[in-house]
Amino acid sequence: MTTRVCTQCGVEKDVGLFYIENRSKKPRSTCIKCTSSACKRYRENNADVLKEHAKLYRCANKQEISERSKVYRMQNSELLKQKKRERFAANSEVLNARHRAKHQQNKDYDNAKTKEYRDANREKIRVSDRAYYLNPIRQAKTKWYSHNRRQRILNSDASLTVKQWMRIIEMQNNKCSNCGRMFGEHLKPTRDHIIPVSLGGGLTFGNVQALCHSCNCKKSSSVIFTRALNELLVNPC
Ligand SMILES: [Zn+2]
Ligand SMILES: [Zn+2]
Repeated sequence: MTTRVCTQCGVEKDVGLFYIENRSKKPRSTCIKCTSSACKRYRENNADVLKEHAKLYRCANKQEISERSKVYRMQNSELLKQKKRERFAANSEVLNARHRAKHQQNKDYDNAKTKEYRDANREKIRVSDRAYYLNPIRQAKTKWYSHNRRQRILNSDASLTVKQWMRIIEMQNNKCSNCGRMFGEHLKPTRDHIIPVSLGGGLTFGNVQALCHSCNCKKSSSVIFTRALNELLVNPC
């Protein structure tokens, strides 16, 4: 077994623990450990220069790099998908929050894109919607949810009278309390539970506001109170 003394750390080591020089085909004068720590130091001290170099390389070899990565992506598509899923699972909350924030910033652009896509692919969307609607799992789920909701409504306080409901609409000046559109022939008021049924809210004068159908759908099971609070203090009729 041949050994060699590292000029950096001064320790005598097996030649297997030295890199072989590319040109001379001889082992280097410093051991692998010292060489890699020196490289690391160099990278840390010259980060900007190296970044610039990498940028220049990327610019000069754009085509080649993109070809190479395309081939790699094709050969390892399953692996990459798996990795992506793992990454998402590990950071789902952060990623979802980032996605939501981005969407908030680019709402108009996103909506326009969605509309454009929907307009261009009307038939395709209709077919997939239909398939989704007929999906037995979805149907079972919907049945289960609506059964649960019905049970909760039956068990909750439901003292709202027709008269009180008319009074609520009147108090809201015949407008949706969220978007402010006027109710009429084409915009029917719907009864919204301010505290949702799922959180134990009942169909009572204090817990109902009139929303248009689209606002009611958007509200879903969140607690968004848009009816003015002092209106609640008015004695119900
Ligand atoms: Zn060494
Ligand atoms: Zn509305």
